[in-house]
Amino acid sequence: MSMMVIMQETATDAEVARVRERVEESGATAHLSSDEVVKVIGVIGDREAITQLPLEAMPGVDRVVAILRPYKLVSREFQRRDTVIDVSGVKIGGDHFALIAGPCSIETPEQVLAAARAVKAAGGHMLRGGAFKPRTSPYAFQGLGEEGLRMMAAARDQTGLPIVTEVLDPRDLDVVCSHADVLQVGARNTQNFLLLAELGKAGKPVLLKRGPSTTVEELLMAAEYIVKEGNRDVILCERGIRTFETATRNTLDVSAVPVIKLASHLPVVVDPSHSAGRLDLVLPLSLAGVAAGADGVLVETHPNPEHALCDGPQSVPTAVFGEYAERVLGLARWAGKTV
Ligand code: PEP
Ligand code: MN
Repeated sequence: MSMMVIMQETATDAEVARVRERVEESGATAHLSSDEVVKVIGVIGDREAITQLPLEAMPGVDRVVAILRPYKLVSREFQRRDTVIDVSGVKIGGDHFALIAGPCSIETPEQVLAAARAVKAAGGHMLRGGAFKPRTSPYAFQGLGEEGLRMMAAARDQTGLPIVTEVLDPRDLDVVCSHADVLQVGARNTQNFLLLAELGKAGKPVLLKRGPSTTVEELLMAAEYIVKEGNRDVILCERGIRTFETATRNTLDVSAVPVIKLASHLPVVVDPSHSAGRLDLVLPLSLAGVAAGADGVLVETHPNPEHALCDGPQSVPTAVFGEYAERVLGLARWAGKTV
């Protein structure tokens, strides 16, 4: 059971603190919303215990309302203002747009550096790349592991781009955290609740992909697993879902972008690469995502897609990445974003 304690505009910090203490004394947890005007305290706990609390009578409290949705802290009700996440100095969310690009998998130091330089030169904001790869076949290339993370970190040192990389297994969390700026949860792990809870304590922003068969509501509940543990920096990613359509690898659910933005304050990005599965659709799907209100695009680029170890057919060649980025960033600017 959860509810929101909405404080009066004039409530003092001491009154807020007293409410939080009272909630915690009952064994429930209190989460302070970071909305600036009115302070809201989210209360999550046992129904019996929290409905008995005389919160409405406490000084500074305006009213108490129940949150009926299955996700709470990630909901717009709990926080009206957009969450803006600061990733090592790069902002995403609110008015801030981020282009996140790089190869599917880290292969060599030269490959990742070439991609990072192309992303940087094109005005991109973060470098993506996989070192721990969730491959459908156990015989396919599984990624370079820590060696790949070191190659990415070297590319960050050269370009200044923060790095986004997938963590597949809670056992790899320390090593991934020691190199990454953003921890990606892949589409196959959207509902790996143990991993999500660990990421909630990792102290790094998380990019959570929507699974090919998860609903928006399930995605928001997955995000709640992370936020509930204290990590509010979650970026959601629409990367295409499984439908009857076979013309594309997955169907980019463009509607998910405004649907999520209405329901939640968290930033949303689209991944046109894994939805399209082919290069000729990457630009139109990117533009569709931006036009629908996405806070960023996560896209694959490779210096030599023909020889890529993974996802070559959907990768934008670095040679034309500048042209691609110009279109995407141009539309984001048109949509009123800071890029
Ligand atoms: C990726 O981003 O390279 C990836 C494996 O994506 P997804 O989890 O969406 O399939
Ligand atoms: Mn990929």
